[in-house]
Amino acid sequence: MSLLVVGSVAFDSVRTPFGEVEDILGGSATYFSTAASYFTDVNLVAVVGEDFPAQHLNFLKSRGINIEGLEKQAGKTFRWKGEYGYQLNEAQTLETHLNVFEAFKPVLPASYKEAEGVFLANINPELQMDVLNQVRSPKIIACDTMNFWISGKREALLKTLGHVDILVINDGEARQLAQEANLVKAAKAIRSYGPKHLIIKRGEYGALMFNSQSIFAAPAYPMENVFDPTGAGDSFAGGFMGYLLNTMNFTEENMRQAVIFGSVMASFVVEDFSLNRIRALDYKEILNRYREFKQLTHFEEPEDVFNP
Ligand code: AMP
Repeated sequence: MSLLVVGSVAFDSVRTPFGEVEDILGGSATYFSTAASYFTDVNLVAVVGEDFPAQHLNFLKSRGINIEGLEKQAGKTFRWKGEYGYQLNEAQTLETHLNVFEAFKPVLPASYKEAEGVFLANINPELQMDVLNQVRSPKIIACDTMNFWISGKREALLKTLGHVDILVINDGEARQLAQEANLVKAAKAIRSYGPKHLIIKRGEYGALMFNSQSIFAAPAYPMENVFDPTGAGDSFAGGFMGYLLNTMNFTEENMRQAVIFGSVMASFVVEDFSLNRIRALDYKEILNRYREFKQLTHFEEPEDVFNP
């Protein structure tokens, strides 16, 4: 099954308490596609500038990602600079340079239009909508966004959300989008904007999935070495959507498993800068960590303690 993703392909400069890197490979669509590529075929839509090296394109191709829809335009590649304190949950954005994204008009290659799944990664919501308009009959559409667009392009974002099945955002974004401090109330409000399912990522506290029937809580893997959280959200979404497309099963049960595969991919990405840790994972490593998640939350029915 094929999964279409539109989002940023970027050069990131990141400072964490453990180190600093400049102009490394990043971007929402890059992290998403790499994580999803372990589960399903991925078709990438994005734009890069003339400064984007062949080595990065070769890496994406080596993961089997279709980059026919990755345009190269005159100008510079999107750049993002962010910083994390010891509280690694949320990045502080220091600089955002849209560069070639400013004038980008995505045109999907013919083969992309039949995609069964679509992920609108974090990017201008007008571009998210442009892409959605070109896909014929996707079975499942999910979306991400961030504070930059919630405050800067709210109307366009609400329009996109009207066409989306699943929204995947972090807790700060959920509060900002719903203008509501309580997450359960925020989830109710956000689901009234369109998405039937809402996943709220809570960094080291895991993720919550809300729909009309239930709330599912998944922990985050208790990591001893969190090096750089950049890309955790996009890799979560990649594992989540990749598993859904692999199985084409959108039952509650299966979506819960997808949340765990998302958490597994996120847990790997934070172990190193950029995509280094998820460049070449072993399927056994992925399955083992999935099983560790299962173990982490497994508990038995209580003994008959209230009936002595
Ligand atoms: P996350 O998974 O939330 O940590 O996303 C990190 C990625 O988002 C980085 O690699 C950035 O290049 C990318 N990013 C940051 N700001 C934006 C933005 N305004 N639009 C699109 N992508 C962005």
